[in-house]
Amino acid sequence: MSIKKGIAILGSTGSIGKQALEVLAAYPDFFDLQVITANKNADLLIDQALRYRPNTVVIVDEQEYKKVSEALWNEDIHVYSGKDALCQVVESGEINLVLTAIVGFAGLQPTIAAIRAKKQIALANKETLVVAGELVTRLAKENGVNIYPIDSEHSAIFQCLMGEFKNEVEKIYLTTTGGLFHGFNRAQLKTVSREAVLSHPKRVLGPKVTIDSATFMNKGFEVIEAKWLFNLKPEQIEVMVHQQSIVHGIVQFEDGSMKAQMGLTEMKLPIQFALTYPDRFPTDFPRFNFMDHPNFTFEKPDLKSFKNLDLAFSVMEKGGTAACALNAANEFSVDAFLKNKISFMEIAQLNESLVDTHSVVSKPSYEDYVNTDKSVREQAINLIK
Ligand code: NDP
Repeated sequence: MSIKKGIAILGSTGSIGKQALEVLAAYPDFFDLQVITANKNADLLIDQALRYRPNTVVIVDEQEYKKVSEALWNEDIHVYSGKDALCQVVESGEINLVLTAIVGFAGLQPTIAAIRAKKQIALANKETLVVAGELVTRLAKENGVNIYPIDSEHSAIFQCLMGEFKNEVEKIYLTTTGGLFHGFNRAQLKTVSREAVLSHPKRVLGPKVTIDSATFMNKGFEVIEAKWLFNLKPEQIEVMVHQQSIVHGIVQFEDGSMKAQMGLTEMKLPIQFALTYPDRFPTDFPRFNFMDHPNFTFEKPDLKSFKNLDLAFSVMEKGGTAACALNAANEFSVDAFLKNKISFMEIAQLNESLVDTHSVVSKPSYEDYVNTDKSVREQAINLIK
């Protein structure tokens, strides 16, 4: 039997997925790529399959199945299609760890399938914990599954907690650069267009995460994700703007001592650590030098202009399906912004109205999450009509 770690990457054609493939390729003696998946991007999935040689590929969009299967028919690579295939392929006995890099609510079902199949999880798809944190963390516990965070802030907290098993956390700090429009006043934010976001020279993330970062929704979701990952109360989580992006997360313990994780921004580092935990593999990533960064700054976020962060705290207090409603509202509003149907500032406004009118189910089942997601989206369509 192979002693390599069998890996499935869900969402391999995205920003995180592509970087995860590069991490795996750097350590061919340690990892065995079993599965890669895409939603619609058949061309890139085919390229990745030919280059990285997984055992199986899934293209969710059934209209693209023919193209992928014809391109790979002679390559000894299994090709499947459809949403259900995502849940089935993660069950393979050859897989030890599933890296979930699908964007949005769509990541929930395959992540749950992987947990039920007792696969370790490297979690990039934060929406999974935002939508159904209570269910997902309970299932992980019942199935003896660890969830290793990929988000750099959560990886930072996770690293600070290593060796602190018995010590209580008083508080954590999550940092943010403030997004592409940090420092803009409300009048300037009103004029932010889809093009300004997508063609911004500093943009490195996928489209949805770029917009979520710019509206602070991403940070709000990270707060909810941190609550579930580290079993914290909302008041134990604080967000700070730290534009240099060197300190990624800080844990404050009961004795007042603080531990921070630092380094130059490099997403491959938390991706790699989630795959190699508890070991650290050597890398040639550029090293941080204090003399290049003599001044660190920390500021309170501008909650008046960026209402999404407060909204995230308020849905955590409400509990049940409230955060699921916020996620559905936000997926809808970001998509509407990308289609030029609403303005940048209307993203948070629409989120707020949809969350306010949602009737929270306090002890939700999986079906309650699915129904919430569906009904909030339906309501959103009516609202923007
Ligand atoms: P991208 O938009 O770049 O990639 C998303 C991936 O998911 C693609 O492979 C896409 O396939 C696939 N996908 C999209 N919709 C579906 C669907 N309905 N069913 C199945 N697969 C789907 O996103 P990112 O890589 O930027 O982000 C992925 C997740 O990681 C998000 O939850 C994000 O919040 C989180 N994250 C991202 C970070 C980053 O630096 N980008 C940092 C930390 C966390 P296709 O290409 O075919 O559309």
